[in-house]
Amino acid sequence: MTDRLHEDIAAWLEFYRDLGIDEFYRREPGPQLEAENSQLETGQQPEPSLTAASVPAASPPPIPHLEPRVTSHEPRVTRAQALSLFEAPPPPRRERETLEEIRQDLGNCQRCRLARGRKTIVFGQGNPHAELVFVGEAPGADEDEQGLPFVGRAGQLLNRMIQFVGMKREEVYICNIVKCRPPGNRTPEKDEIDTCSPFLFRQIEAIRPRLVCCLGAPAMKTLLGIKEGITRVRGQFFDYAGTKAFVAYHPAYILRNPREEKILREDFEKIREFLKASK
Ligand code: URA
Repeated sequence: MTDRLHEDIAAWLEFYRDLGIDEFYRREPGPQLEAENSQLETGQQPEPSLTAASVPAASPPPIPHLEPRVTSHEPRVTRAQALSLFEAPPPPRRERETLEEIRQDLGNCQRCRLARGRKTIVFGQGNPHAELVFVGEAPGADEDEQGLPFVGRAGQLLNRMIQFVGMKREEVYICNIVKCRPPGNRTPEKDEIDTCSPFLFRQIEAIRPRLVCCLGAPAMKTLLGIKEGITRVRGQFFDYAGTKAFVAYHPAYILRNPREEKILREDFEKIREFLKASK
């Protein structure tokens, strides 16, 4: 086999693999095949044929003695029945990722400097099919200790607000924009958020909630790209990745400014109304 032929076959295999076809069988040589092969070996263009390998000129050149085999659970198609590649149904779509798969992919993450100071990765907690997802900023000392989000004082306030909307903590899903505690509870830096937030986006995509509630400005900026101050944006709904997002103050801010708790309640009232109305 010439190098050229070898390269052509490799190109074809890659082309079919991209289409989801990865099993092939070899046709027994016959007079037509031998003629086609000798044309290929000598660089002549083979006669066009009507096999599954007939494709427009922009595609790799046909390799007539290799034909795709439909994977074992599918009925085999004969040469006469074979559909052109462009008539064939598209390969099946990939299943949606699960939270477990995303957690596994995160592994013992060392992707950014926050790994050095953390005790535990705080991935997220709650119902994998939640209608409501809360996204906070970053684990604090209690969360880092226990490996769970919002278990300190801010978490207790969040629990009360979840009850206020008529739900239990186990019914919702709670996570943060970064999964490791920043030193001294500082706000996560841009590169840390950029590194970690793709895992958050995948979590939300896996859960597909009806509403994502951003708790605080960093979650708002990360999920919605909003640069305005949270005071002007809180209490509002936005489109987010095929679902809705809502912005509320972070419970830790309310602990520092207890007079604002009234506003937090008003905002959670909107969450309750939204969930009721969009059932
Ligand atoms: N604050 C957050 O933003 N997240 C937590 O998990 C705890 C406190």
